[in-house]
Amino acid sequence: MDHKKCQFIMEDGSQCGAYSIKGKTLCFSHDPESAEAKAVAVKNGGSSKEIRVDTSLEPIEMNGAGDVVKLLIKTINEVREGKLDPRVANTIGYLSSHLLKAYEVASLDTKLTEITAIFATRQTPSRRICNEEY
Ligand SMILES: [Zn+2]
Repeated sequence: MDHKKCQFIMEDGSQCGAYSIKGKTLCFSHDPESAEAKAVAVKNGGSSKEIRVDTSLEPIEMNGAGDVVKLLIKTINEVREGKLDPRVANTIGYLSSHLLKAYEVASLDTKLTEITAIFATRQTPSRRICNEEY
């Protein structure tokens, strides 16, 4: 038996084959003392790769900048209370800034349409006057 290799015998009767921990006869996976450390490593490894929201969040209705303010206040409080992963909150903040920009552009678009309509009504009578003069 190779003493540098884990001496754990698998279900099929073969030796594990992984390198054993220095000064031990079993590998990291099969050493009972390492089991807890491994569980923590797997948990940490898993959580760093995947960001999850533990509870499904209610869909929210957004009808303007006021709703974005409410959402941001709610998100800030949830991070402070430890209910929301700061990385998820960061994404919400990022998307909120895009939403605010979109509201701003939509608002400017509406104002431009209104201004254009005002100019259109003002120009029509003045043209008529010009036409009547000639
Ligand atoms: Zn092993």
